[in-house]
This record gives sequence, structure tokens and C-alpha cells, in this order.
Amino acid sequence: MKTRIDPDKPMIALTFDDGPSSIYTPAILDILKKHNSSATFFVLGTEAEQNPEILQRMVNEGNEIGNHSYSHLNLTLLSDAELTYQIETPQVIIKEITGQAPSILRSTYGTINDELMQKIPFPIIHWSIDTVDWQSRNADFIYNTIVENVKDGDIVLMHDIYESTLEAVRRVVPALIDKGYQLVTISEMADARGITLQPGNVYRNMYP
Ligand code: ZN
Repeated sequence: MKTRIDPDKPMIALTFDDGPSSIYTPAILDILKKHNSSATFFVLGTEAEQNPEILQRMVNEGNEIGNHSYSHLNLTLLSDAELTYQIETPQVIIKEITGQAPSILRSTYGTINDELMQKIPFPIIHWSIDTVDWQSRNADFIYNTIVENVKDGDIVLMHDIYESTLEAVRRVVPALIDKGYQLVTISEMADARGITLQPGNVYRNMYP
């Protein structure tokens, strides 16, 4: 378990979408654990179903699980029934595995509009630093994007399904700690900043 968070010290929330991956996610969890750090994983229902032991491990080691839909459809294009299925199914799957349903959601492709904000019954968590890891597949580029841009309260977007992202995480976690940052979950950062996350609101950072 992580030592207590100091609310007066700078902090960063690393976030990982589209997993868990049976190959890369356990290695990312190893790195976080080794460095006494935690992160938030916005998982897909389809992938969660296939990797229950990884989900349980995330929770056991102090990480947070968020909802990233059941099968990664564009949520702005769905009927109400389809939207409910995409949002509620992962809640059930994740609760069955870990005992706790997520309290935060990240919409797919970062798409959001007023109508969707009204229909999503959870705080919506986007990001302030996009590593574009899915496109570059380049560990140096991912590492530099984070280290050159990061500041207190940033939310960093990555995907725990690429080898290049894992290699970047291996270097960026100790580098951020060396710079004095605590690596925390979304809920931990909200708590430390005195932010009450509200359903239907979009959060892209938690700057002091
Ligand atoms: Zn995604």
C-alpha cells in the first residue's frame, strides 16, 4: 500500500485506457508497485471480462478502476438503450470481479457533448497531457511528451496495451518521482485538491 499522500506536494495522475492487457498491464502494475505509486485504469468491459485477476490486482495494490465503456463504441452515436448497455455492463462486470463498481468514466475517443454529459451518471475524466502513444508507438516520444510538459495537477493519457507505452512508463515513473511528483489516482487527487467530482461534469486536470 502507498504511503499517505501529502496534499501540499505536487501530484500527477497517470491514466491508462483500453486495457487491461494480459501482456503489458501486469508489467505496468509491477512498476507502479516498485515505486510506491498508483494510477487509474479506464478499462473496457470486454477486456475486464477476460482479465479478472488483473482487475483484482489493480484494486489490491491501491490503483483505481474507471469505466471506459463495454466495447469502445463512439458513445455520441448510440441510442439511449445502447448507451445504457455500454455504460452499465462494465459496472456490473467490474463489481462482480472486485466487489466495487467504478465511480468515474472516460468517454471513448475523448468525444463528449452536452447531451451525453447529461446522460452519463458519472464524473467524466479526460486529460491535460495526451501522449498520443497509440499513434507514435515510440517510448522516447511518450517519455519526452510527459517529462517536458508535466505540471502539478496534470492528468496524463496513455494506453496499457502497447510495448512502447510500457517502456516509457518504466522510465517516466522514476523520473517524475525524482522531480518531486506523487503519482496518485484520480480520486486521490480530487480528495487532495478538495474537489467533489460531480456526475456529468468533465474534468481535464486538477491544477491547484
Ligand atoms: Zn479508448
